[in-house]
Amino acid sequence: MNAPARARGRFPLRLEQLRAAPAKPLAAAPGPQGIGLDSHGVRERLLQRLQAEGLRDARVLAAMRAVPRHAFVDTALAAQAYEDTSLPIGLGQTISKPSVVARMIELLIAPQPAGKPLRLLEIGTGCGYQAAVLAQIGRFVVSIERLKPLHDRARENLAASRTPALRLVYGDGRLGHAPNAPYDGVIAAAGGDDLPAAWLDQLAPGGRLVAPMLDARSGRQALVVVDRREDGSLARSEHEAVKFVPLKSGVD
Ligand code: SAH
Repeated sequence: MNAPARARGRFPLRLEQLRAAPAKPLAAAPGPQGIGLDSHGVRERLLQRLQAEGLRDARVLAAMRAVPRHAFVDTALAAQAYEDTSLPIGLGQTISKPSVVARMIELLIAPQPAGKPLRLLEIGTGCGYQAAVLAQIGRFVVSIERLKPLHDRARENLAASRTPALRLVYGDGRLGHAPNAPYDGVIAAAGGDDLPAAWLDQLAPGGRLVAPMLDARSGRQALVVVDRREDGSLARSEHEAVKFVPLKSGVD
């Protein structure tokens, strides 16, 4: 496993309450200066930047305001948590850029009226950050991860944050999660060269899927949106180019 050694800094008590017990004694890891003192301030500046770049949905803004991204990355990277950049989370995987998380969730819930209790499915839990954001928005969220160490880490990251509406599943997300289907939204954090049939099968009428997918013609990944209309038919559109880790099959 090539994950960096986990070392936790001292975050304010409020954030500590959100966290699971650290993997190492806090004393072993002096936290980065500033981030623990004013994570609200830097998070607010990131949100202002995302708004300036076009983020409008109040549900997404409130959710991203509520989730401390720095608590989901290694302490050594916490100072960068509120920059608009992806960061390594071990095992060759990355936590997505905040602007991409915001954009994808905004697309995901755009067809849904405010106040509707949403059932959401995420493929690629990673460190659990986006799952935590989704859990602020959905009434019930399932998030699947195929790498056991990351599934375990996400569980640890989310343990104390009281997200009863979030169910973490260890498995192959290409199969979706039939026991809790159908979903109003399916969102993938890893990109393949096709859309697994299960994702579409498990999409409720009126629901939307958002996923990075390889465009065969250009050879580049782009965001693909598929809507299941109320009559059951599917409508697909392709959006901007993105760069996600590969969607793999099976579990490790
Ligand atoms: N949403 C995550 C991003 C993690 S990166 C976060 O906020 O941190 C994408 C993740 O998708 C990786 O952890 C990778 O292991 C996972 N992944 C890739 N293929 C998968 C599959 N078939 N099923 C479940 N997870 C998968």
